[in-house]
Amino acid sequence: MAQPGEFAATLKQQADIVRIVGEYVQLRQRGGQNMIGLCPFHKEKTGSFSVHQANQFFHCFGCGVSGDVYTFLQKIENITFPEAVRMVADKLGVPMPKVPYASPEEARQARMRGTLLDIHERACAFFQERLKRPEGAHAREYLKNRGLTSAIIAEFRIGFAPERGFILRDALASQFEEDVLRESGLLSWKEKEEASGIRHQASEQLPVVSGQLPVASRQSPEQLPVASGQWPEEVSTRGAPPPDNRPLTTAYSKFRNRVIFPICNEQGKVIAFTGRTLASDEKSGPKYLNSAETAIYSKSRVLFNLDKAKEAIRQLGYSILVEGQMDCISVYAAGFKNVTASSGTAFTEPQARLLSRFGKNIVVNFDPDTAGAAAAERSLGLLVSEDFEIKVLTLDAGFDPDLYIRRKGVNAYGDALGHSQKYFDYLIERARALHPPRTPENKQKALNYLLPHIQRVPSRIVRDEWANEISHRLGIDSKVLRQELRHAATSRSAARVNTPPAAQLTEAERLLIRALASPDLGHSSTSAREGQDLDFDPARQAHFFLTQERLHEGSTAQALLDTLLTAHEQGLDPMSLPLDDNDRRLVASVLLESNEDLTPELLENAVRSLRKRAILRQLDELQHQIKEAERRNDAATSARLLQERVRLRRVMTTA
Ligand SMILES: [Zn+2]
Repeated sequence: MAQPGEFAATLKQQADIVRIVGEYVQLRQRGGQNMIGLCPFHKEKTGSFSVHQANQFFHCFGCGVSGDVYTFLQKIENITFPEAVRMVADKLGVPMPKVPYASPEEARQARMRGTLLDIHERACAFFQERLKRPEGAHAREYLKNRGLTSAIIAEFRIGFAPERGFILRDALASQFEEDVLRESGLLSWKEKEEASGIRHQASEQLPVVSGQLPVASRQSPEQLPVASGQWPEEVSTRGAPPPDNRPLTTAYSKFRNRVIFPICNEQGKVIAFTGRTLASDEKSGPKYLNSAETAIYSKSRVLFNLDKAKEAIRQLGYSILVEGQMDCISVYAAGFKNVTASSGTAFTEPQARLLSRFGKNIVVNFDPDTAGAAAAERSLGLLVSEDFEIKVLTLDAGFDPDLYIRRKGVNAYGDALGHSQKYFDYLIERARALHPPRTPENKQKALNYLLPHIQRVPSRIVRDEWANEISHRLGIDSKVLRQELRHAATSRSAARVNTPPAAQLTEAERLLIRALASPDLGHSSTSAREGQDLDFDPARQAHFFLTQERLHEGSTAQALLDTLLTAHEQGLDPMSLPLDDNDRRLVASVLLESNEDLTPELLENAVRSLRKRAILRQLDELQHQIKEAERRNDAATSARLLQERVRLRRVMTTA
């Protein structure tokens, strides 16, 4: 047999890098053998990501990444070299020789990921088969009432988890090793309360639970990647429970008496499930239950239905984003196949990045009720920051996409889609509805509502256009207001126009204040239900990040956040602190205005956004210094600064 290196080299010659990269990035001919597109590894608006057909390599002139087809796959799929080789071999239909891994641990992890896919495939088939049995009658009834045809049920591989949890366990135990079962996230153990109590104690030293997530973490808990700016929580808090040493006979299926929706990765392989309960009593747990995170499943990085939607998104040139899986399936079933949904989590930045690989045009169709509006606004904010061209589809009050299609039909939905509004128009309309701009005060309020949205837009030119449009449409003739609007739009960080204190904060700062000031609601094992993050303590985690990285340095809320940090350390009640009136009002308003649960994702997004702001501040400063150096004709300094800028931009892409 050939050496593995030789095999990889031979395979590379046969592989067409343009075709493989083209599955992830829209490429266009640049001339000759050179293709160009938007870099999937950093944020950009004009393509600086080149792929060379004959030389079989890629290079990004923006962030500096480059390599061959394997490097590309390793980076974009987050896999090892041997896995990348296997992937290319699979694509070409070439049989694989055995490839050694860099270390036994790496080999174990790769094997485990493969086996976890197998066990999910097996579980999926199990659930599908159970749906067809007599015991699945009420599940079938439920699906029928939701208007799902058998073709769609088959296409989405929807299934049913029987009430008796040992059936799945036994079915899996007959085919898989015990460690795989334990790491699959598909099983729960009896006497859960007791166990999580123990875990809690053991984890007191670390802000994240050190209960080792088996395979997902590449680092041991001692080397949590805090300094490198990664989110340690990703490595373990939300992960599968630590390998449980209670006997397998006390384990049972996490999903019981539920309709099962498989969640697939981009390649269409099942990596997790969502279970919709069929019981109406409290005891049966949450309405929707998601798989625990595992080595193959990170919910903030997966978009539901992307595997089926991606081709349509490419062809149609835009995607539709909805909130839940049911909405997604309904829209897809109605023939709009370019639809995806975030599932089990608020829309996240990694998801926005993921989508952006397929183009930057998006129609967002969220539930317009008030609870949905806050989530919608945040998601839209993320998309704006990622430079999407956004349209908003607002359905009649009370209608989510699923209900709308069922009541009004496919054509009506198609019409509505065609009439979706540009995001900016939608915002102005909302501002006008909230504060009819008939009086100067209301104009100011409307403006204050709009400013944070404007400031999210990365492009200064676009911000400037928005500012013009706003003055025009709100009928702002005051010179002062116009000037402030313009200033806010151009600087991105300017003070708001005479706003109440809470509005001076960014959403991220607000969220961190909220996390730190939240009373400890005793996320104890007794109050936590299955499916919740047992060990997520917002205050502790916020404290951890702020003290580690000092991300709030220089923010308007720095003093307040520092006070809250100290209060947390001393176990003081935030509202009993000797704050000045302004700060107290601010804390109160932040706590009052928010009706959404704090989740690890929200906190993660907030920390990311603070990190980015910190880097942006540095970049601004650098820009200034570069100009200075250029003015002085100081080539050496200028070169050094330019290099520093490249480095910071690179940091920015991983922040
Ligand atoms: Zn790049």
